[in-house]
Amino acid sequence: MSNSEKPYICEYCGVGFTREKTLAVHMCQPKRRFLQRGEKRVQLGLIAFNKFYKLSAGSKKDKTYDEFDKSPYYNAFVKFGSFVSNVRPLYPEKYIDHVVTSGVKLDHWCREEMYEKYAINLIKKEGVETALERSVMTMMEWADEQEQAPWNHYFKYVSLNRAVWHIRDGKISPWLILNCTSGKDMLGKFNDEQLEIIYPMIDPEHWAIRFKRQPNDVQLVKDVAKESNL
Ligand SMILES: [Zn+2]
Repeated sequence: MSNSEKPYICEYCGVGFTREKTLAVHMCQPKRRFLQRGEKRVQLGLIAFNKFYKLSAGSKKDKTYDEFDKSPYYNAFVKFGSFVSNVRPLYPEKYIDHVVTSGVKLDHWCREEMYEKYAINLIKKEGVETALERSVMTMMEWADEQEQAPWNHYFKYVSLNRAVWHIRDGKISPWLILNCTSGKDMLGKFNDEQLEIIYPMIDPEHWAIRFKRQPNDVQLVKDVAKESNL
């Protein structure tokens, strides 16, 4: 058929249609990718895609959305973008760099173990101030979701399963848990299974050495905990 019989052309894939309405409801992969550009997972996927080309291929220029849409790796990067958006890693940019330079295959970027290793390493090394700030922010977010709960009730009333995942994901730091009474009381309520999940983060041997080496930082946490009635 000639173009005059199919005058309505999809601007994304170039296919022609006889009726305008058919074109309006037509969907194809390039059009769908175009319409998804504003989604967070796609934007995060593009950030990772750019990092990948810069860090591993030495590319100097940013890739465009058009290049991203047409890449054979589009789906894999968007899937990773979803992962980043759901897990909300600590320091997302840093995590993306870590994954991109890890040498691990793209298909494996969304594995839980990958993030866990990063998170364990990070929370064991980071300074007391960022650890404290993030922990309090997480507790405040929790308080916002409850009806009129003060954030300093977190250790007393948070569901233990919730706390387990906050600790495991690095959102609540051992710096705070291990240096205030209500935090230690909460740890005492965990069952064996829960303790096993958080063990790599709470690692008593690591923190005992750390606290011994940084008495001023421990004092800072204790002061904050006291002021906040934790
Ligand atoms: Zn089309």
